[in-house]
Amino acid sequence: MSDSLLKISGGTVHDPRNQVDGEVRDIWISGDRIVSAPNDPQVLPARTIDASGLVVMPGGVDMHSHIAGPKVNVARKMRPEDRRSDVPVPRTRHTHSGTLGSVPSTFATGYKYAGLGYTTAFDAAVPPLSARHAHEEFEDTPCIDKGIYVLMGNNHYIMTALKGGDPSRVKAFVAWLLSAAKGYAVKLVNPGGVEVWKQRAAGNVDGIDQPVDSFDVTPRQIIRGIARAVDELALPHAVHVHCNNLGLPGNWTTTLETLKTLDGHRGHLTHIQFHSYGGGDEDENSFNSKVVPLADYVNQHENITVDVGQVLFGQTTSMTGDSPLGYYLHKVYGTKWFSGDIELEAGCGIAPITYRNKSLIHAIQWAIGLEWYLLVDDPWRVAMSTDHPNGGSFLAYPQIIRLLMDRNFRREALKRVHPAVVQRSTLAALEREYSLNEICIITRAGPAKILGLDRKGHLGVGADADITIYAPHEDKQLMFELPRYVIKSGNVLIEDCELRMSHEGKTLHVSPEYDREIERDIADWFEKYYSVQFRNYPVSEDYIRRAELIPCRK
Ligand SMILES: [Zn+2]
Repeated sequence: MSDSLLKISGGTVHDPRNQVDGEVRDIWISGDRIVSAPNDPQVLPARTIDASGLVVMPGGVDMHSHIAGPKVNVARKMRPEDRRSDVPVPRTRHTHSGTLGSVPSTFATGYKYAGLGYTTAFDAAVPPLSARHAHEEFEDTPCIDKGIYVLMGNNHYIMTALKGGDPSRVKAFVAWLLSAAKGYAVKLVNPGGVEVWKQRAAGNVDGIDQPVDSFDVTPRQIIRGIARAVDELALPHAVHVHCNNLGLPGNWTTTLETLKTLDGHRGHLTHIQFHSYGGGDEDENSFNSKVVPLADYVNQHENITVDVGQVLFGQTTSMTGDSPLGYYLHKVYGTKWFSGDIELEAGCGIAPITYRNKSLIHAIQWAIGLEWYLLVDDPWRVAMSTDHPNGGSFLAYPQIIRLLMDRNFRREALKRVHPAVVQRSTLAALEREYSLNEICIITRAGPAKILGLDRKGHLGVGADADITIYAPHEDKQLMFELPRYVIKSGNVLIEDCELRMSHEGKTLHVSPEYDREIERDIADWFEKYYSVQFRNYPVSEDYIRRAELIPCRK
């Protein structure tokens, strides 16, 4: 009998990365990895989980979520009313207490992800100056592996280097900044637009060719320049773009231009639902879906991947690095609002929002999200997200799964929303139903591949032992809401649908090579402009308890 071996026996395995579509197989685990079955039949596992009749998948990977950092924390403080009606997460022998609402507390976030069968999640918008804070919150976010995307689209140093026509300086700075923040990927949020917001009242750019005040570079130059740096550094994940003009009627042309600007580079467009709107001039009566032409472009261009940012009906909190957007939402809905500038780097806006099924705009947003899942031909290039908590909570993923797998359920849901959706989108005509294997792709295998995580999102030998086991059910929402077992790094966290132990996950980060010569120039820049000293800025190696360096692509 081997102490460390765990066997998952006889489950119906879905492992699309390894071309396994619902085959009965055994999976062997040693320590925190998946291993091959022992050759010697005398070798017995220390424990066997009988998975016969159950569905076995890799652990879920959420590639775009907001779960740590200063804006998440401000949102928690700003909305006590959001938590009052929710039952608190009680303390148990293994776990801390916590609160839910649209922005759960740190510990509750980790437990709830694990309870849903997710074992990895990334915070998609951390200003590098606040990276230390995000990593501190991650220390208190149990069960999952995690990482941060570093905001760069409005960074003064980068815009200055772009204006100077010096791509090698942009590339070296991007690499230094990622390493300094212990970040995983490069994030652009309303590139250039947030800077204009900081320069003048209610400022923004109106498209990707409007020069940014004081810098004389355009959003197009920022997007292209950084996409080039990301590719030359061979980072595991493409440049992660939140386009300009989020949420505005008619913004689909900006999105199309952004897609074209990424030609020749890898690019990931995030929460693309919020960027697929026809119509004009804040006119509700012309608001409509433009998913068809945009999905058509994505289908024909393999350099592009997207996540959806599905809207679900109910109350939530909008939180964004896009300060002008926060202001826009506050004006439209008349709710309370928080705005924050981060010196030389970024911005932030927070506002509560309630999506209503009888609202024409909200109903079309909901339909647009579903159209994206159903109109992108290749599930490997469209990842599930609600842009938690912006479109809705990550806890709503099982509901989205049912909407995608069950055409009749979708038709019934369509009857309950604003009737104009039928004319303003193609949703009513879409017959496609996702298979279990395709759900497995958009919730784990695909995002892991898009992120360049070779040991996640699959169950092959050498993969991380992050595994979710579901009891099949006709109602796919029920099936995905309550996994029977969740195994993280070889530890059985969830058993019989109950959290039996906690676990400290890893922080995934990158450390690309760069010309160290640049540090002298960056140090000068800090001396002149920053409120912190250059030497105090980077998050040091020993600051993160369980760090894992993910290599750049070869
Ligand atoms: Zn987001």
